[in-house]
Amino acid sequence: MEETPQANRLHIAIFGRRNAGKSSLINALTNQDLAVVSEVAGTTTDPVYKRMELLPIGPVVMIDTAGIDDVGELGSLRVKKTKEVLSRTDLAILVIDPEVGIDNYEKELLAEIKEREIPVIGVVNKEDKVKEINIRELAKELKIKLLQVSAITREGIEGLKKEIALKAPEKFEKPHIIGDMINPQDIVILVVPIDLAAPKGRLILPQVQTLRDILDNDGQAVVVKEGELKGALDSLNKEPKLVVTDSQVFKEVTADVPENIMLTGFSILFARYKGDLEILTKGVKGLDDLEIGNRVLIAESCTHHRTADDIGKVKIPRWLRQMVGGELEFEHVSGREFPDDLDNYDLIVQCGGCMTNRKEILYRLNKADSLGIPIINYGMLIAHVHGILDRALEPFPLAKRIWKQ
Ligand code: SF4
Repeated sequence: MEETPQANRLHIAIFGRRNAGKSSLINALTNQDLAVVSEVAGTTTDPVYKRMELLPIGPVVMIDTAGIDDVGELGSLRVKKTKEVLSRTDLAILVIDPEVGIDNYEKELLAEIKEREIPVIGVVNKEDKVKEINIRELAKELKIKLLQVSAITREGIEGLKKEIALKAPEKFEKPHIIGDMINPQDIVILVVPIDLAAPKGRLILPQVQTLRDILDNDGQAVVVKEGELKGALDSLNKEPKLVVTDSQVFKEVTADVPENIMLTGFSILFARYKGDLEILTKGVKGLDDLEIGNRVLIAESCTHHRTADDIGKVKIPRWLRQMVGGELEFEHVSGREFPDDLDNYDLIVQCGGCMTNRKEILYRLNKADSLGIPIINYGMLIAHVHGILDRALEPFPLAKRIWKQ
């Protein structure tokens, strides 16, 4: 909790062939030996994520990837993992080795980067070897600007940092969790259950971030457990603007909050902040169309400690089986895994994604939506299963309209 969470940092991914100098470029950019540099081609296997401060940009995550020209069975697995990184990349750097030049590897990767509308910077590393190729011709062929740098002598590194600052998308995360919904001095009640699933001695990230956003926007936050909510409402001499609750106690909280006070869930706030509330609202309809025997993918963005009554493994499958009145086929993925082929699923249930960035969640939502596969998140599923989605969407007029349609 002491530093900017990984999910809120600009994600810069470094791509290129094996031994193009990707790891040494990261070290040169950060002035530290963070990435292992080796003369042996193919040293970086799985993508490596490093949090750092990159001046003048601020907190970033640098992603060091395996070579796009890796070969063999293991090599193509690494290339696949490298390409998966694109789904969470805010800015791509393509490193070109002047000794080798370019080929289809670079062109195919660039085509994919452009298709996903990711800003890209081309870098010709090993400036001492640069005379071996014609940079202008290369830039023309790739249709991108190319910068010459040397990770060894650090020549051109400052220019690259400036280019990163220039190209970095301004809005790589949605600016507000709740701040745009409140005015200064508005009271917001946050309902935070302290149950077995709550981490010892601290609040979870979405709760802390919501609290911070209220304070940043000069609102007043009251934090209570669900059992104290009624007392808190009675003791306030002004009505709260909004009550935000953990989804798991939505039903109990709904009973305590008068109809004239807006009520929503952390997971619905984060569905909007992290992704697209409208796509998720459309996805809810897929829930109602679910039939016995259908296939459901449950995607969690981290590998958290699981409790006996785990939401993804136990509760959601139970609720869905009850809804359809029979068996369903469940598949679970966690962390950065997400299937390439979504055609086989009838419904995708995505977690709140508090540990990943907006780009990745949006990628998943858009991919499913473009294939016409309903995708929903935990909070909206819970709200719908308990019949309270209608109320939880009250603060969001567009989503509410889609829901009503
Ligand atoms: S499973 Fe998803 S919502 Fe739960 S902690 Fe991990 S990233 Fe956050």
